[in-house]
Amino acid sequence: MNEKLAINNGTPVRNQMLSYGKQFLDEDDIQAVVDVLKSDWLTGGPKVKEFEETICQFVGTKEAVAVSSGTAALHATIFALDLKEGDEVIVPALTFVATANCVIFQKAKPVIVDVDPASLLIDCNQIEEKIGPKTKAIIAMDYAGHPCDYGRLNEIAKRHNIMLIADACHSLGGSYKEQSVGSLADLTTFSFHPVKHITTGEGGMIVTNNPEFAKRMRMFRNHGINKDFKDREKSSSWVYDMVDLGYNYRLSDFQCALGISQLKKLPNWINRRREIAQFYEESLAKTPEINPLEVSTDVQHAYHLYPVLLDLKKLNASQDQIFKALRAEGIGVNVHYIPLHFHSFYQKFLGVKEGDYPVAEAAYSRLISLPMYPAMTDRDATDVIIAIEKICNHYSKEDIKREIQL
Ligand SMILES: *Cc1c(COP(=O)(O)O)cnc(C)c1O
Repeated sequence: MNEKLAINNGTPVRNQMLSYGKQFLDEDDIQAVVDVLKSDWLTGGPKVKEFEETICQFVGTKEAVAVSSGTAALHATIFALDLKEGDEVIVPALTFVATANCVIFQKAKPVIVDVDPASLLIDCNQIEEKIGPKTKAIIAMDYAGHPCDYGRLNEIAKRHNIMLIADACHSLGGSYKEQSVGSLADLTTFSFHPVKHITTGEGGMIVTNNPEFAKRMRMFRNHGINKDFKDREKSSSWVYDMVDLGYNYRLSDFQCALGISQLKKLPNWINRRREIAQFYEESLAKTPEINPLEVSTDVQHAYHLYPVLLDLKKLNASQDQIFKALRAEGIGVNVHYIPLHFHSFYQKFLGVKEGDYPVAEAAYSRLISLPMYPAMTDRDATDVIIAIEKICNHYSKEDIKREIQL
């Protein structure tokens, strides 16, 4: 069976593009937001604390601080650590730019470490050679939702007396050795952007067991002022002090209400993501041109993304051609991520260049993220596989008998 590809004017598998990620909101979510809109508190009110407490319970930490985005959450972690100009923070080469940008916001310097070829997570074997007297922290990022090796990471951080930050914007709901993501590092950040596991429109959260860090971050999200509106009302005083340079990184009450409502559904959504991942993995076993990433037996994967690696040696097509062919079939694939050192800013700022992080680069030239979100139907997931098989039949160098299942 060798159907004409949509990219060559054949009929596409789907007429409507299936996006790579998408939020899901029900009537309860909408009602939760409306209730707050009708209340006295649009921001700085009770829903913020309630959302923070709900997240604490979910991940098993003592403290949570809600902020306006995942990026603000990362920025707050660097502020919490009180880093000074010239301090260094280890970051992985394959991540979203915000993971490294937050370090520069506080005038410290990101030091890039390459990733492991099987998991594409920060390569623990290469971290220690990058640790020097100025190193103050490691930011690990749970790529695609696969928790990093927190056993090794904590051991390294302890040995060098540095802090461990988890950028867990992909892995809310995941776990490592039965311990929830959020409780595995000194500070952990989440994002509530619509493509992430739960959404508040824009939004983020930091979780920690360190009350001092939490206190500093609460101040940081409120201009660096040591008392918020409620503290002043309680003490019936107008006096406050700005003790440090902070920002307005607050999350509004109606956003927090949406977050609380969304979080109730997260366990079911994670199960659905795992179901889709299992279907992809089983289906792709018949397609040697396209390989899923390895999953460690130590973790429960949260499957924010489903990246696959193209085996270009087996294909008569480039990554770009496969990408465009899938898009033409109506499959909204994406690529996560352009490595940090490919960005012109980082080349100028850190003096890094192409060739410096070969594993991240090799992966980047082969990566494609397949659609992955809980509201996808079985039909949607099957369409993804049909499109892949159709495209592989066309471009494969090997003659593989593939049964396209309908
Ligand atoms: C989404 C994301 C962020 C940033 O979160 P925003 O809420 O969009 O600011 C940071 N790091 C990673 C790994 C992300 O995926």
